[in-house]
Amino acid sequence: MNITIATLGELLVEFLAKKENQGFSSPGEFWGPYPSGAPAIFADQVAKLGFRSLLFSCVGNDAFGVMNITRLSRDGVNVQGISVLPNATTGSAFVSYRSQAQRDFIFNMPDSACGLLSADHLDEALLRQYSHFHIMGSSLFSFRLIDAVRKAISIVKENGGTISFDPNIRKEMLKIREMSQAFEYILDYTDFFLPSDGELDYFGLSKSRDEEKIVARLHKRGIAHVIIKRGARGASYYSKDEQHHVAGYPVEVVDPTGAGDCFGATFVSLFLAGYSVPDALAHANAAGSLAISARGPMEGTSTLEQIKELMRQQN
Ligand code: ATP
Ligand code: MG
Repeated sequence: MNITIATLGELLVEFLAKKENQGFSSPGEFWGPYPSGAPAIFADQVAKLGFRSLLFSCVGNDAFGVMNITRLSRDGVNVQGISVLPNATTGSAFVSYRSQAQRDFIFNMPDSACGLLSADHLDEALLRQYSHFHIMGSSLFSFRLIDAVRKAISIVKENGGTISFDPNIRKEMLKIREMSQAFEYILDYTDFFLPSDGELDYFGLSKSRDEEKIVARLHKRGIAHVIIKRGARGASYYSKDEQHHVAGYPVEVVDPTGAGDCFGATFVSLFLAGYSVPDALAHANAAGSLAISARGPMEGTSTLEQIKELMRQQN
């Protein structure tokens, strides 16, 4: 089967504070620049698995932009959807870990090249060649991007394609009101919903702390596949009449950023390719584990062979 997956959103470089609790309010050392951006990591992981992958984004006419395009292109992503804007700078993010679970960001996105991505940058003929579209909640930080997402959804749906959505909530972005409104719109078209367990409360679902009730409500809303990421504890899958819970692969955590993106890309790709749900979940867990084993958000994307090797070692 021909698996073709498109996504859209931020493409940036990331700088990572060398020390835990380093923060941003005094001088310190950073690793980077690393290629980054949740949709870009997702697209890179899809391509590394050997499937057709397309990313729509914008970079500036600078070295950060060149590095990002070169990396994605090397890994097999179709970069025809990436526009180089002459008068803008490639986006950037600074991250500092407080602990493995908690991190702070400073984003330079709305005013960067990827923040200027709009519906006008979507090449409709190009997008029509792809039958699945993935949305990252972290990309919904401006009206322009939300507009572009809406246009992409309508093109892919019109074409009989499917949609996946990872809310990927960053606390730094929750103030953006357009974002929560867009969540509601996107959920109406979502076939695969991929929140992490900590994000479930956000979806107006906090009246119930019972996961199965929350999931039942999502199914009723028309979302066929709900996949819940649980960090080191692995992941679960719920459809109306099936549920599967698959444990994760314990690894040493070097840099947790990117785990969810690699997990989602692997699950969606392999599910569409016809893998059974437990098998797709196990491979996705392994992809998440490999992601956190490498420093840098996109440095831990992996091939199917690398994923299978980790599974062999751990089984
Ligand atoms: P992100 O920080 O990228 O947004 P997320 O919150 O969306 O991540 P997580 O649940 O943190 O998603 O990670 C996705 C998957 O990666 C998990 O379901 C699991 O398979 C794997 N994973 C994440 N953290 C660990 C860990 N500490 N040990 C083993 N596997 C992990
Ligand atoms: Mg995530």
